[in-house]
Amino acid sequence: MRAICVREFGGPDVLRLEQLPDPAPGRGEVLVRVRAAGVNPVDAYIRTGTHAYKPSLPYIPGSDAAGEVESVGADVAGIAAGDRVYFFRTIAGHQGAYAERAVCLPSQLFRLPSRASFAQGAAIGVPAATAYRALFHKAAARPGETVLVHGATGSVGLAAVQLAHAHGMTVIATGGTEQGLALVRTQGANATVNHRDPDHVQQVVHATGGRGVDVVLEMLANVNLDADLTLVAPRGRVVVVGNRGRVEIDPRRAMTREITILGMSLFNASDQELASIHAALVAALDNGTLAPVVARELPLEDASRAHVAVMEPGALGKIVLAI
Ligand code: NAP
Repeated sequence: MRAICVREFGGPDVLRLEQLPDPAPGRGEVLVRVRAAGVNPVDAYIRTGTHAYKPSLPYIPGSDAAGEVESVGADVAGIAAGDRVYFFRTIAGHQGAYAERAVCLPSQLFRLPSRASFAQGAAIGVPAATAYRALFHKAAARPGETVLVHGATGSVGLAAVQLAHAHGMTVIATGGTEQGLALVRTQGANATVNHRDPDHVQQVVHATGGRGVDVVLEMLANVNLDADLTLVAPRGRVVVVGNRGRVEIDPRRAMTREITILGMSLFNASDQELASIHAALVAALDNGTLAPVVARELPLEDASRAHVAVMEPGALGKIVLAI
C-alpha cells in the first residue's frame, strides 16, 4: 500500500511516500481502507521529535481518518466489510492514518453517517472531540451561556462554534482574516471579532453588553490567557486548548472574579469518556448540527505541504489528505 513514512524526526520534508506491505487484521482487529486522513497540528509537533509523545521510528503519522471497512478479523462482532467509518487512535497508538490501509481496534472505530463525506469524517477524531470535551466535559457549558471561541476558524474552533450554537449558547468567535470571520458567522457565531485587532478584547466585552463571557475556549493561551481574564464574567471558565509558549498572567484577576482556568488534553480522556464523546458526535453528524468544514484536500503525496499549511495563519477549516 501507499503510505507516508517517517524514518527520522525533523521538518516537513521527513514525510515521504513509500510502498509498504498491506497490513492484515488479526483476531479482534478491523482493516480499514482509508479514503481521507485528517492533518492536525499535533501531527506536526510529533514529527519534529520534540513533543512529549515520541513514537519509535519508523512510523506512519496521523490519528484521524475515515473510510470503509475492508475486512474484519476473528471475534469481531457488529462491524462488517463495507461499513462507512471514521477512526481515532489515542496517543499511545498515534500512527497509521496517512496510509491506504490501517488496522484498528473496534473501540477506535465509529459509524460515519451517510450525510458526512470521508473528508468530513477525517475531521472528527481530534478536532470535534476536542471541541466537545472542552465545551462539555471541562467548561460544563450550559444552554443560555455565552461562549468565546478564541480561534474559531480552525478545525477545533469551527466544531466548537457548531456544537455551542446547536446547544443554545451565544457564540462569540474570533479569527484572523475577514474570510475566516465570514465563515464562522455561517456556522453559527452570533458575533465575530478579529484577534489581530489590538482592541479585540474590548470588542468581546462590548458584544456581551459589558458583562463578559461565561466560557472561553482558548486556542492560543500563550498569547491570550492574561487578556482572557479581563473578558470573562465572574465565575467564568477558561479552557486552555491550544498553547505554543509561556505567558505571564495576573492571578488577581482570577482570584477576585473566581475565574477557573482549566487545562485540557484530549489524550487524557478515558475510554469511557471517549465512547461518550463519540456517541454525541455521531448523533450530531446524523442530525447535521455537526458538519465539519473542509478547507483543503491534498493528495497523500503532498503530506509535507499539508504539514506546512496546518501551521500557517489564515485557517478556514480542516486540511485533509485524500487517499
Ligand atoms: P488550526 O486548524 O490550525 O487552527 C488554529 C486556530 O488558531 C485558527 O482558528 C487561528 O485563527 C487561531 N489563532 C491564530 N492566532 C490566534 C490568536 N492570536 N488568538 C486566538 N486564536 C488564534 O488548529 P486546530 O486543529 O483548530 O487546533 C487549535 C489549537 O488547539 C492548536 O494549537 C492545537 O495544537 C490545539 N489542540 C489541542 C488539543 C488538546 O487536546 N488540548 C487537541 C486538538 C488541538 P486564524 O488562522 O484565523 O488567525
